Amino acid sequence: MSEVKLDEMSWQDAKEYFSRSDIVILPVGSVEQHGPQNPLGTDYMIAYRLAAEASRRTGVAVLPPVPFGVSEHHSRFPGTVWVSEESLRSYVLDVIRALAAHGVRKVVVVNGHGGNLNALRSAAMAARREGVLVVIYQWWTLPELRSIFSEEELGHAASVETSVNLYLHPHLVKMDRAVDEKPARLPTDGLGYYPERTDDRVRSGVFGVSTTASKDKGERAFQAALEALVKLVEAVKSLEPRP
Ligand SMILES: [Zn+2]
Repeated sequence: MSEVKLDEMSWQDAKEYFSRSDIVILPVGSVEQHGPQNPLGTDYMIAYRLAAEASRRTGVAVLPPVPFGVSEHHSRFPGTVWVSEESLRSYVLDVIRALAAHGVRKVVVVNGHGGNLNALRSAAMAARREGVLVVIYQWWTLPELRSIFSEEELGHAASVETSVNLYLHPHLVKMDRAVDEKPARLPTDGLGYYPERTDDRVRSGVFGVSTTASKDKGERAFQAALEALVKLVEAVKSLEPRP
């Protein structure tokens, strides 16, 4: 089975697809600092590759990625481009409503950036009221990753993301610039909320250990994440959304 990209179909192909299928995959990411070694587009690039591979394996159409996300906390780092939570919520909801007009009733959102989650959750609840089931998948929460990476390697721009980048697009990773940095503590840690920015905790943009990244670990992480996503898409495919 080959991947089915909505943006590569003609309207006639799309008509045919939507006549037999009511589900799509929507990748959402961010353009934000990922340490000195990783590309700014890490989050949308990984989300899109997972989504496109899952599409290839399931025959479910994949949409082009929504690149910009809720990343204001990284704003002090050059190149970070962010949108507000309200903007992302209404943009994604508009996309879902347009899809619903073509008969889509189920959307698997592949979210590449944790900061997007509040906005996506809120859009998913609103979509459900309108009869569309939107589920959200996040690759980095997968328990299997803990058997490949230590706690310090699982942070933002740390070994896990760097390794997946090394596997997917090694030419975009500058491993000679990779650093390890222990994030500073804030007085609210474990107690509540601080309107924190990345530069409150780290200077490099890396949370934890990134110098241990490898292509091999990245491949194992990506494949585990893909397996889980394929299972999820298959499960959602056969669901009948309740009105
Ligand atoms: Zn990221």
